[in-house]
Amino acid sequence: MDRIAVFPGSFDPITLGHESIVRRALSLFDQVVVAIGVNANKKYYFDLEQRKTLIEETFADTDRVKVDTYQGLTINYCQSIGARFILRGLRSGIDFEYEKAIGQMNHALNHDIETYFLLTLPEHAAINSTIVRDILRNGGEARQFLPASIHSI
Ligand code: ADP
Repeated sequence: MDRIAVFPGSFDPITLGHESIVRRALSLFDQVVVAIGVNANKKYYFDLEQRKTLIEETFADTDRVKVDTYQGLTINYCQSIGARFILRGLRSGIDFEYEKAIGQMNHALNHDIETYFLLTLPEHAAINSTIVRDILRNGGEARQFLPASIHSI
């Protein structure tokens, strides 16, 4: 049975930090699905199609990374595609506390799905999509925080 992991998030936009977590996870899983969670009440900087295209361009070199969108609970989405793993990245103690609660609650909801956490590389620890958006919105240079294949955004 294929080991499929879902990497859920909003990816507004995908950053070098996300890319690194996904590529490192390819040694653990056969396939990683980067899954954009759709929340109708949330305002995004990049629309869903743009975010999806940027992720596809980032991983155009491998067929082991897929991109998808979903609504509702992550564990239900995992079940619907036969994924037994959720992948998350940890940058800090704050990420850890937040992710711990989600991971434990997801496990309570479905014992068959395990969450795997990868520590960010030190050079990516400060990168987050919110700050990247602020830089882009204000005409700053965000390239050093973005995957090489999407430097043109
Ligand atoms: P959310 O909207 O749920 O915060 P994000 O798209 O920001 O989702 O992040 C998705 C996942 O990527 C989360 O597990 C988050 O911790 C992780 N992540 C975000 N930025 C980085 C980074 N620089 N290094 C490692 N992991 C990261």
